[in-house]
Amino acid sequence: MEVDDAIIRLREMKASKILLQIPDGLKPESFNLFNKFSKEFNVIISSQSFYGACDIGNMEVYRDVDCIVQFGHSEIPNIKYTKPILFIEYFYKQIELDDDIFSILAENLVKNVGLLSSVQYYKEMEYVNGKLKELGYNVIVGNVDGRMKYPGQVLGCNFSAAHSIAAKVDAYLLVSTGLFHGIGAQLSTDKPVYILDLNNRSIRNIQPDIDKFLRKRYARIEPAIDAKKFAIVIDTKIGQYRKKLAYSIYNRVKGMGRDAIIVTADNINPVDFQNLMCDAVVFTGCPRVSIDDEDKFSMPVLTPIEFEQLFGFKSNNKYIMDEIVG
Ligand code: SF4
Repeated sequence: MEVDDAIIRLREMKASKILLQIPDGLKPESFNLFNKFSKEFNVIISSQSFYGACDIGNMEVYRDVDCIVQFGHSEIPNIKYTKPILFIEYFYKQIELDDDIFSILAENLVKNVGLLSSVQYYKEMEYVNGKLKELGYNVIVGNVDGRMKYPGQVLGCNFSAAHSIAAKVDAYLLVSTGLFHGIGAQLSTDKPVYILDLNNRSIRNIQPDIDKFLRKRYARIEPAIDAKKFAIVIDTKIGQYRKKLAYSIYNRVKGMGRDAIIVTADNINPVDFQNLMCDAVVFTGCPRVSIDDEDKFSMPVLTPIEFEQLFGFKSNNKYIMDEIVG
């Protein structure tokens, strides 16, 4: 949906007050967007950062508006949003690529390519699909579960597109600038991932990044083995709310004879956990928080699956990425 389509939809809905939610990368557009929508609607812009369609803010923020317009994300189909919400996706401007950047795949005997992308590069993925086929590769785009909108799409919390074709591909080619999605896809399928970085117009195998990631991650989570007091966090964002999972971890901690509390959070703040004087945190919200923000915390912050692996509740020794499935 484009801005003009959103305005038409808002008219049809007879919306009067609207809230614009804009991710940090698009915040410089705030004045333009505010002025454009203000011609017809009473507009408020949220100053919060919105990292995904899993987050539409809390009740206090949106109680008073008729509709939310969120930019830069695609809807998560299996979330039952509690407010009318329109998503305005932003796609990366498509660029032409030289044939020779794909030769790294053939050099590494990759013939069956699983194609993946994060949503903002989806149009480029369609172009790359055609290009690879012209070059003689067998290209497979995976189906997704209810948390995703597009075939082949990956999120930091869901690699269903990779799982669905793991048996058929030699490797994945991920169109994205971020590393997290690639690490997740490789660790959850055991198939090599190559990242097509459109900024550098280059493709690289991310195995060295995987090795570095695992070394750092194990060093961060292993001290939790001696923790006596655990804070188990339920994130209150609509698409990250995993209360049942939080209570199952709580019961496991108690069953080990250690102390645990359940806490809620919206934006997780390291200082709050220092004040709680806990030795370890198990965070059941966005899987990226435990990993991307690991250096901000003085104690280990584990994903639920890391907790289960560390304490032997899972027999599999291989590192497993946390996913929110739909
Ligand atoms: Fe993105 Fe995290 Fe939300 Fe998943 S849970 S959509 S990775 S912000």
